[in-house]
Amino acid sequence: MGKAPITRRDWLLSAALQPWIRQATRSFWVLKLLAPQVVVVHPVGTARLHCSDGQRSWIIEGDRFLSVRPGAQQLHVTGPNDLPACLQLEVPGMLRRTYTGVLDLLGGSEVVRPVVTMSCEIAVGSIVGAELPVSEAPFAALAAQAVVSRSILLGSVRRRHAIADFCDTTHCQFLRAPAPTGSLAWHSASETAGLVLKQDGHWMSPRFSAACGGRTEGGLNGEDRYIPVVCESCAKERRSREGHGWGLCQRGAIVMARSGFTWQAILNRYLPNAAIIRR
Ligand SMILES: [Zn+2]
Ligand SMILES: [Zn+2]
Repeated sequence: MGKAPITRRDWLLSAALQPWIRQATRSFWVLKLLAPQVVVVHPVGTARLHCSDGQRSWIIEGDRFLSVRPGAQQLHVTGPNDLPACLQLEVPGMLRRTYTGVLDLLGGSEVVRPVVTMSCEIAVGSIVGAELPVSEAPFAALAAQAVVSRSILLGSVRRRHAIADFCDTTHCQFLRAPAPTGSLAWHSASETAGLVLKQDGHWMSPRFSAACGGRTEGGLNGEDRYIPVVCESCAKERRSREGHGWGLCQRGAIVMARSGFTWQAILNRYLPNAAIIRR
């Protein structure tokens, strides 16, 4: 179990990027696939975690931690002044993952359900790092994914879960720890900060899949209209479809990026009727 890659200073710096970034937040039901029986909350570095269960409030810091089981009272955890906190969630014997945000732990009767409310920009970096193989995907592919993922976060009209806007599985989008500051995934989010896709006057909530199989799906999906496009990368590699095949093809994006195409060109290829707009 390694130390957290993100320090408190990192999130202070990223939170200071632009005023609107601090306002655009979404909630994520995390560690969902693990269906944890116990979740342990650790402060990261010098973080002070302000905890409350509705009746009393207390602070944990340093080596102290908080262990939550199903049936426990709902817990609310923040940094000082209700700001986001840098914390780690541990499922003993399985994993330990860092998050920056405000944490709600819902007991439930069977499993513990952690919900982290975080800045959309931090979430975008976390999703890009989880959705694409960052060691082999060039920057342009990551940046195209960043714009698509941000559009989903900001363009979805309703919550996808009763307890949170999104979850951290493929049902919504994969989401792990924040991208380490200075990493390619981090740059892909920061260099496209605020950019989303718009179509016919509405904000898109675009779809993407691992590989389209040579031709993307066309038609209407909710409000979003997809034009089927030929994907030379999948066709040439005789790659069969993985996923639903709508919108951005991740495999195609990686191959285009390796050939020197920009992230704008990748988005124009797979989502030709979408405009890239600063929200
Ligand atoms: Zn979901
Ligand atoms: Zn493809």
